[in-house]
Amino acid sequence: MAFNVGDVEPRYRVYCNRSLNMKAIKAVGFDMDYTLALYKPEAFETLAYAETLKKLVQLGYPEEILGWTFDWNYMVRGLLIDKHRGNVLKMDRHRYVKLAFHGFKQLSRDERNRLYHSDAILSYEEPDFALIDTLFTLADAYLFSQLVELKAARPGSIAKSEAEVYKDVRAAIDLCHRDGSIKLRVAEDPGRYIHRDPHFVECLQRLKDSGRKLFIATNSLWDYTQVVMNFLFGNETGVLNDDWTSMFDLIITGASKPSFFISQNALYAVDTATGMLRNVDLGFGSHKVFQGGNFRQLHQFLGIENGTQVLYVGDHIYGDILRSKKDLGWRTMLVISELEGEIDNLRRNADEHRRYEELLHVKDALDDEIQRLATLLQQAKEKGAKSADAQALAKQLDRVTTQRANTREALRKNLREYHSKFHPVWGEIMKSGHQNSRFAAQVENYACLYTSKFTNLRFYSPNKSYRSTRDYMPHDEVAT
Ligand code: IMP
Ligand code: MG
Repeated sequence: MAFNVGDVEPRYRVYCNRSLNMKAIKAVGFDMDYTLALYKPEAFETLAYAETLKKLVQLGYPEEILGWTFDWNYMVRGLLIDKHRGNVLKMDRHRYVKLAFHGFKQLSRDERNRLYHSDAILSYEEPDFALIDTLFTLADAYLFSQLVELKAARPGSIAKSEAEVYKDVRAAIDLCHRDGSIKLRVAEDPGRYIHRDPHFVECLQRLKDSGRKLFIATNSLWDYTQVVMNFLFGNETGVLNDDWTSMFDLIITGASKPSFFISQNALYAVDTATGMLRNVDLGFGSHKVFQGGNFRQLHQFLGIENGTQVLYVGDHIYGDILRSKKDLGWRTMLVISELEGEIDNLRRNADEHRRYEELLHVKDALDDEIQRLATLLQQAKEKGAKSADAQALAKQLDRVTTQRANTREALRKNLREYHSKFHPVWGEIMKSGHQNSRFAAQVENYACLYTSKFTNLRFYSPNKSYRSTRDYMPHDEVAT
């Protein structure tokens, strides 16, 4: 077992934004979907997509959409849907829109600037915008773009505004998650939809053996949690049992996060055999599987005196991480499964990245040279210098200005190609241009730790003190 971070492959490392000493952690909690259970989006989201199409046809959308297919690789986490304009956007951490598509058609720089960089300050928040911040919403964005295209091509085919179309898509997907369209299918064949991780049990056991209390807080209900957890614990019989629950001290299903972290939702005990709920106003008894409730009851149940004693592992910035960290002081670990691919690409394209930095320096030097020559030329003219001198300067200025234009173009091309190595449309998830993306900024702000999957914890001691890299500001470069 490697405890030295240098020994851990970068794609499996746990990265630290905010220092965290595990010795202070008494309880480690887990979200289930896309955290403990890593779905195969190519199967799971495709199923959600196909079921949603059926619901949309019932709502009056043209039957031809039943022949559509889902490119699960097209959309990525961190994008923003502009519901009213029918666009999908990628922004940097300053909320500057760097890429915009109407349906699948890219908007020109002028169109983009006209819509998003005028004086009208847009909120970029709900209800007018929707953030694609879980893998569950990749299908929302893709289907929305398809419908926007259809509506643009044949306006008569969908007699609704873009915002109404978005609302229908959201409602249809929501229903698929709730009415069994998706979950009954997963229950029939979990292995088709969920990855198996050989280190799953070992990893939880190690944390438990280190004395930590373990809990689950999932928005899924008991019946589905039971299916998924039986699969993850390697129960091959197909007959569901409660054996896996012994790993945990507390299991909260139907948690309604993020409201779990801020409200006073009622708590019910779940009868694990029948799924029936019982009111538990009079105390917890020996029960450990519940539905609903709120963080106060969780703290009481686990003997937590202070939010900083809890580490919560989740995949959803808004649902799992933001409120738990901001309001309760819980320490947080975000699971970003795309990180493995991003890190591989970063390493593979390091030379191109260096080339970009070099070009940037060349451009800076040319900018300065242009300023210098322009000033000299101005002075020469004012002094009434011989026109030959002024002409020579003007010629030089022309040459350098052309060089700068070429370098600029080379920079643009380099950046475009660099990003396309990560994703042909949206580029690197964590960057927008050469700035951090909006998604990266959220990860930085709300996740104390982040990693590609929770079982990466096996590479580190359960008592590890994670230390953040030293904060860096632009002027710090003088020390490097
Ligand atoms: P968690 O990540 O373990 O908290 O669980 C997320 C739950 O939310 C899963 O049961 C998902 O099926 C469910 N879910 C995801 N998207 C939607 C939606 O749009 N509507 C309703 N449930 C959803
Ligand atoms: Mg989740």
